[in-house]
Amino acid sequence: MSKLAFIGLGNMGSGMCANLAKGGYEVAAFDLNDDAVKQAVSGGATAAASVADAVSDVDVVVTMLPAGKHVHQVYFGADGVAANAKPGTLFLDCSTIAVEEAREAAKKAEAADFIYLDAPVSGGVAAAEGGTLTFMVGGPDEGYERAKPVLEKMAKNVFHAGGAGNGQVAKIANNMLLGISMIGTCEAFNLAEKLGLDAQTFFDISSTASGQCWSMTSYCPAPGPVPAAPSNRDYKPGFAVAMMLKDLKLALASAEGAGASTPLGHHAGEIYAKLDEDGHAGLDFSGVMKRIRGEI
Ligand code: NAD
Repeated sequence: MSKLAFIGLGNMGSGMCANLAKGGYEVAAFDLNDDAVKQAVSGGATAAASVADAVSDVDVVVTMLPAGKHVHQVYFGADGVAANAKPGTLFLDCSTIAVEEAREAAKKAEAADFIYLDAPVSGGVAAAEGGTLTFMVGGPDEGYERAKPVLEKMAKNVFHAGGAGNGQVAKIANNMLLGISMIGTCEAFNLAEKLGLDAQTFFDISSTASGQCWSMTSYCPAPGPVPAAPSNRDYKPGFAVAMMLKDLKLALASAEGAGASTPLGHHAGEIYAKLDEDGHAGLDFSGVMKRIRGEI
């Protein structure tokens, strides 16, 4: 079985790393935060003292980092992954970063005799811990075939979306749709309630009619109809406003570069940005319901 390095043991990475160790891989774990490394060791990984130490003797490097600048620094910075890994090592970045940053990383890796895949995920911390993430992978077939068994230890679904950057394209397009559909769902529940229709009755009808969508049936922003949804715990995340805003900004920047018209994506971005600005960055993104109801 291949030897792995895992770098970036935060909210998402810690559960993912534990599932790889549980799945039988030998995993060298590194994070700037020593406590996160200790937690990874208790989950079955081996502690690495640095990026260089983690990657020098492995076949696959998995990263789960905050943003594109961290990804480029970890892979291509001084004493980073590329400077220390064996030729042919597979780079598997699961972070959400800009499409252009992922394509640039793939080019740099290829020029240095490595294979880079962008493999961002759908699903939050619970899915990372439970091994039920959905991976959207961009990069060459050869890399995808090598990555698949590794990803499957952390996944419910693994999709090959095409060439370099296409995993990030799938992720940001999906999350732009999610951001828009959540606001629409909040508006519909609020309208129904204001006109005298209670949330459960509206849910029973609309969830089997043409308004049905994931934001309604799996993550209902009105408390009651979907017991596991954050709306039933005062909108504790879940998936925070700050994370939705990050993904919308990536989507809108890429849309502008590609000349793609996104009027509703743009408006959704403004709505989440205002919530963030008003101190609600840590609220679940379905908490936009509170704004629509005029409660915040
Ligand atoms: P996080 O901030 O909890 O974790 C990031 C980790 O990276 C931290 O432990 C940090 O110390 C480490 N790190 C940063 N720079 C480093 C470096 N140079 N070397 C080693 N370690 C370094 O973030 P998260 O919530 O785990 O999210 C990670 C990625 O997953 C992001 O790109 C995010 O957009 C994406 N994502 C998150 C969620 C979610 O629900 N949290 C869902 C889907 C996708």
